[in-house]
Amino acid sequence: MSQIDLILLNGNIITMSSKKSDGHAQAIAIEKGKFVAVGTNEKILSLADETTKKLDLKNKTVVPGFIDTHVHGEALGDRFSQMNLRNVKSIKDIQQRVKNWVNRIPEGQWILGRGWDQDKLAEHRYPSISDLDQVAPRNPVFLLRVCGHLGVTNSRALQLAGINKDTKLPQGGYIDKSLENAEPSGIVGENALELIYRVLPVSNERTLMDVCFSAVQKMVEKGITTVHWIVSSPKEILALQKLESDQRLPLRIYLIIPIEHLNKLAGLGIQTGFGDDKIKIGCVKILADGSLGARTAALKQPYSDAPGTRGMLLYSKKQLKNFVEKTHKADLQLAIHAIGDRTIEMVLEILEKVLQKRPKEQHRHRLEHASVLSPRLINKMKNLGIVVSVQPHFAISDSWLINRLGESRARQTYAFKSLISSGIIAIGGSDAPIEPVDPLLGIYAAVNGLKYPQERLSLDEAFRIYTVDAAYGSFEEDVKGSIEIGKLADLVVLSKDPYKTSLDQVGEIKVELTMVGGTIVFRSSDFQKAALS
Ligand SMILES: [Zn+2]
Repeated sequence: MSQIDLILLNGNIITMSSKKSDGHAQAIAIEKGKFVAVGTNEKILSLADETTKKLDLKNKTVVPGFIDTHVHGEALGDRFSQMNLRNVKSIKDIQQRVKNWVNRIPEGQWILGRGWDQDKLAEHRYPSISDLDQVAPRNPVFLLRVCGHLGVTNSRALQLAGINKDTKLPQGGYIDKSLENAEPSGIVGENALELIYRVLPVSNERTLMDVCFSAVQKMVEKGITTVHWIVSSPKEILALQKLESDQRLPLRIYLIIPIEHLNKLAGLGIQTGFGDDKIKIGCVKILADGSLGARTAALKQPYSDAPGTRGMLLYSKKQLKNFVEKTHKADLQLAIHAIGDRTIEMVLEILEKVLQKRPKEQHRHRLEHASVLSPRLINKMKNLGIVVSVQPHFAISDSWLINRLGESRARQTYAFKSLISSGIIAIGGSDAPIEPVDPLLGIYAAVNGLKYPQERLSLDEAFRIYTVDAAYGSFEEDVKGSIEIGKLADLVVLSKDPYKTSLDQVGEIKVELTMVGGTIVFRSSDFQKAALS
């Protein structure tokens, strides 16, 4: 062994190693950004020389760095965060907030917000165009629903987006119209959102870099050392690269790229895994349906609280098959957003055919969400070797679930335990900014959040989906996900030992320090004095 750069001593280190006997350690040695030794204080100290830095962990608990496998990075950093509507309780509330903005900004400037949920509003309905026109007659307003699949606009915004009663509906899009005069009601969803996005002011590279920086900063504060970043515009990739070259990118990025760009990737022969330890090309994302919240996820049977609708598939089976085939053939990993059972069934049928024709042992194609399940669908996923990307915090937020799906379907929704017990690898994420970007809250939700206890995970299983198993979801289980010799030195120091905390308090544990590749990228005020000596 050559020179050890850093040793961490006096810790309660939970390694998540697959070897039970190596499950706990006191100390770690790090060299060139990797773990080179894990063991007792005595053993690790003996490796140090006079140039080795030391960090006293003061008996704090250390776990592997968290991996969040589903984050909309740009949206988390900004775009819709100007007005956070997550906790509004009424349409009146929304109006008041919009009014406050109108008073602060010049006429004509956009007002953007995100986070409302009609089921949590006193009026129990969608906000309407006239609600917004009343308070913002001269500023375009667009307020995205919490799920991101649907939003409400005022008249000015519709005008700018060129949406009127004669607008041709884009495929997979939704523009609600009034029954009386066929005029748009202001509610726009799914692929029709593009009509609005394309007229929004474009952030320049500088501000996009700031947006991305604020997102990654939030993540490392929550102990995230790798994020699977869902790209919304290719400019983000450039912004992230520039952050990296400015040495302002504190964590590792696995890019999830929208299907629109598949031909470019495939044309260049770029495969999953291209890049380096900081930024990698990951999956190609296909949005196959909508959300349960907006009732646009495609179900086999109608929504229990809206018997007139079964949701919507955003592509025909033929189109979807074409996408899947091309992506698979290009050796790119798929990440298919599929929430409703009708969508999941169709996607699995397609994957089955494609994999039969062109088998690949380790494709690790992913379903994102896979929310409404059945034993048959789970079995099929298992047989096809599908990885399921889950976001446990939805189990807490979707308080209307039983109402929306009915008892028997709700029981099979967010079926985390059934997935894992069938042998499927589930990987954990937040879906931020829809849900909080905070793996410990995700872990809390996975062990407590579900209405039906039989689908709750054990604490260990919940940790696995954000660490070792998440690493499997990006073909990186050999380099990250646990504290073991040879792996990247990514770790988190926690305020308490989660295994010695009662389950209902796991969400209150705080991240005190985050380390990526042996470098401290975040430390809380409690850990401020923990200087390297
Ligand atoms: Zn998402």
